Amino acid sequence: MRNLRHALTGGLTEAKVEHAHRGEHTRQQSRCPQCDRLLKARAPVQRTVETLVGLVHLERPYCSCPACRVGLSPLDEVLGLSPGRPQLEVQKAAAKLVTEVPYDEAQRLFGDVTGVGVGSERMPTCTNHVAEGLTGWDVAPSRDEIERRIAEGAAGRLRRPVLVLGIDGA
Ligand SMILES: [Zn+2]
Repeated sequence: MRNLRHALTGGLTEAKVEHAHRGEHTRQQSRCPQCDRLLKARAPVQRTVETLVGLVHLERPYCSCPACRVGLSPLDEVLGLSPGRPQLEVQKAAAKLVTEVPYDEAQRLFGDVTGVGVGSERMPTCTNHVAEGLTGWDVAPSRDEIERRIAEGAAGRLRRPVLVLGIDGA
């Protein structure tokens, strides 16, 4: 059962999606997110996404706007899917591990614990997606936290403490 769990839960997810979003599978039209033009849905397009409960296969209508040259699948929007195959929850889980241990070890542990195989070469990509837009200031301790640490280091000493901020990889 442990070996089969992802095939089972992936299949359950597909059934749940189909039931909960029945209207999305037969959708005939959608609005362009840029110009608001009404777009006619084309033949369904298949997509497989990787989640922590296994692979989920989707077949959903696809719309494209010739004027704006954008394509969209309304079901993807409804489900909140992220671009690419591994979904954000997989990327977030991988990112948590790689902040603690090296990429190779993170990849091995991730596979052991989750049963989801993410190649070690994809670990940096996952981390970068999750960290997109973050700067060193976003991950640095807050002003209050730094002041607390300075006070702790300075307690009972005559000289002022030296503060060093180290951010791995930045
Ligand atoms: Zn448009």
